[in-house]
Amino acid sequence: MTSKVFQKLLLKIRKYNAQADFELIKKAFEFAAYAHQGQKRISGEDFINHPLAVADILANWKLDSVSIAAGLLHDVVEDTEVKKEEIEKIFGKEIANLVDGVTKVDKTKFFGSKEDEFAESLRKMILIMAKDMRVPVIKLADRYHNLQTLYPLSKEKQQRIAQETIDIYAPLAERLSMEKMRGELEDLAFPYIYPQEYQWVLAYSRPYFEKAGRHIKKIKQRLLEALAEEGIKAKIDDRRKHLYSLYLKLCRPEVDKNINKIYDLITLRIILNTVEECYAALRIVHKICKPFPLLGIRDWIARPKPNGYRSIHTNIFVSDGQIAEIQIRTWEMHKQAENGIIAYWHYSQQKTPRLTRGQRNVSFFAPPAELSWVKELVKWQKEITDSKEFIKYLKSDFLKSRIFVFSSQGDVYDLPEGATPIDFAYALHSQLGNEAVGARVNGTMVRLNHSLKNGDVVEIIRKKGASPSKNWLNFVVTYLAKRRIEEYFKKVGK
Ligand code: MN
Repeated sequence: MTSKVFQKLLLKIRKYNAQADFELIKKAFEFAAYAHQGQKRISGEDFINHPLAVADILANWKLDSVSIAAGLLHDVVEDTEVKKEEIEKIFGKEIANLVDGVTKVDKTKFFGSKEDEFAESLRKMILIMAKDMRVPVIKLADRYHNLQTLYPLSKEKQQRIAQETIDIYAPLAERLSMEKMRGELEDLAFPYIYPQEYQWVLAYSRPYFEKAGRHIKKIKQRLLEALAEEGIKAKIDDRRKHLYSLYLKLCRPEVDKNINKIYDLITLRIILNTVEECYAALRIVHKICKPFPLLGIRDWIARPKPNGYRSIHTNIFVSDGQIAEIQIRTWEMHKQAENGIIAYWHYSQQKTPRLTRGQRNVSFFAPPAELSWVKELVKWQKEITDSKEFIKYLKSDFLKSRIFVFSSQGDVYDLPEGATPIDFAYALHSQLGNEAVGARVNGTMVRLNHSLKNGDVVEIIRKKGASPSKNWLNFVVTYLAKRRIEEYFKKVGK
């Protein structure tokens, strides 16, 4: 049985990488199968099925042979007698370091542990990540499979793992721009943490999804025909909004549990070959369906999000006031939007085709410049020695969902949810933060501790020679703003 699954895995790998190191992968599988021999999962199935499933997820992401081998071996050090040194002797340093990294992250219980231990765990994870981004990616695959097989565990364990997923791993996937993974992790964890709320959203949204689904089918067909008439080849996907993210949106005060105020319950994704075709598709969409005026067109191709996200978004009337979202993008943008860092590896690989097996060094998997937050985190990790404070800023900044706000010049900035105009000002420039005396959001004066929202246009009112207030430290949520304010007071000696 097991070997059949393994043969299937090899076939899958061969399809995307005929050059893969099959010897290595076989050796890793045999070693893991031997080490885990006799071990069972709580469900009663053989333990080896779990590392096999993790390797399969990594193969779905078309990862390199070393990652696949590390996926197969990822629980060997944690759950058997095998030591890291042995892995290193047999499989080399690279794989040993990956397994060790995943093991260390694994050992860290983020919940139920004391604050110091919790902070220590996060510090470790950050340092490991800064060296090799494959560690968090393997860890996400591990977590994804664990969540799929969570049902036989005790209630307590289910809740701990699910909560950890919502608080740490889903945000981590978001920061790695692995949007698809984030949505799936959240939806798997959701029923374990909020069972009643989950049932409520499920039942409440069902008729709306069904109704919208019928109309969307027709719209999709008409769009495909209209595109074909202009000689444009396109693929159109329709996606239901993930339930957990729907639940969070329904809970927002401005939505007030009214599903008619959710404009992206269903999203049509039009995927094309070129950027020109994207704009042609936008014209065709608006010819066929009435655009919903409230949100307008968001052109993230002309002006990508800071994390590199590109796509054109618009919303259309589906029927009797029901609204759907349309996202228009090329295949490259699509892969980047769904798989983030993994798509980045694929494209870098294609750009340097001669960098094949053996020649590719570990630095290939170091955090790319686009993920500047990894460097930022390493800095925090050094600077914030107090555990309480470290956790506070990880929670309010790094692990928070991101919003995108605009300067009055139209530049876009990425901030954590709950960020204030002062956080925004410091994100632009430290002098602007120091001299801020007021703020306008979408043309209206707001207080300096006002919570910014996605899509806000923010203008900071500045007075030369003004200075920050210590009170700001009570409401800023970004570590950057806090550090700049403290630096100011240190400099003036107060
Ligand atoms: Mn595992």
